[in-house]
Amino acid sequence: MAPDSAPLAFPYDAPPDGGETIEVAPGIHWLRMPLPFALDHINLWLLEDGDGWTIVDCGIARDETRELWARHFAAKALKGPRGVKRVIVTHFHPDHVGLAGWLCAELDCELWMTQTEWLMAQALSIDEQNHIHGSRIDFYRAHGLDEEWLSQFADRGEPYRTRVAPVPSVFRRMQAGERIAIGGREWEVLIGRGHAPEHACLFSREAGVLISGDIVLPKITPNVSVWPSQPEADPLGEYLGCLEQFFDLPPDVLVLPSHRLPFRGLHQRIRQLKEHHDDRLADVIRALDRPRPAAEILPVLFRRKLDLHQLGFAIGEAIAHLAYLEQRGRIRRERRADGVLVYAA
Ligand SMILES: [Zn+2]
Repeated sequence: MAPDSAPLAFPYDAPPDGGETIEVAPGIHWLRMPLPFALDHINLWLLEDGDGWTIVDCGIARDETRELWARHFAAKALKGPRGVKRVIVTHFHPDHVGLAGWLCAELDCELWMTQTEWLMAQALSIDEQNHIHGSRIDFYRAHGLDEEWLSQFADRGEPYRTRVAPVPSVFRRMQAGERIAIGGREWEVLIGRGHAPEHACLFSREAGVLISGDIVLPKITPNVSVWPSQPEADPLGEYLGCLEQFFDLPPDVLVLPSHRLPFRGLHQRIRQLKEHHDDRLADVIRALDRPRPAAEILPVLFRRKLDLHQLGFAIGEAIAHLAYLEQRGRIRRERRADGVLVYAA
């Protein structure tokens, strides 16, 4: 078998139990937190940092997560003299930033994020009037979702603030290409796009480790959605573009993703992700045998039944594929007399 088509290698068959950790590389510890969604967990990382620790990502703001963190505080003496120096958050999604404010307060440490991710977390946290996603019913109606789904979206409100503890008003900005010293090793900040606007990934050549966040996942593809706040965005183009930088990393790097299991085979996984989206784009073009709205493309991309939480991601992803094709002149978009946007091959 050529190395290019070698399957991914998973050095661990199972994650650490709640409250436990696994040391996946010297000084790099893996822990897991539960999530109340179909994707029911997130991986977090504890990095030994000289006489203290650096935490990477936080878990969602729920009592269950706080209780598990309390066990880690005790097991690793995180509140002791060998305390926590900083909390690094990869991006603004609730499973990553959720408990950042709580952790920073409990552990008396700094928050490190990229500027756009911190601003997004702040904006959604203080958006009590729901301005940012306020236009979403019109947006989803224009993309052909039926009134029954729309009324469920309207009833749900915006759940962000229920999943994220107040985000610290002070932070340390991380930028593309910056090198951060953690535990005597250098970690380079690589920026992922499309899934979130300025997602931080961390690469240490010395450790042979890439903390990939949600940008490179094994077995599942990260959500890449057009959101109501930016209806003309091209997140799929941004996502596919950002993947190219990972070919410059060593092919045998240990990838630490936010979901599922750590793996080796980074270049192979990047090729699979690109192929996956190429295949989906071809499926979308084939499905456009007549002008169709994004809602009619959903069954082409998602063969399973979707709940409300998944539907927001799924319709966003369908629009992202259509926008990618439309913005490159491969399909056309027009507005029907009833106001619905339809796409034609
Ligand atoms: Zn995410």
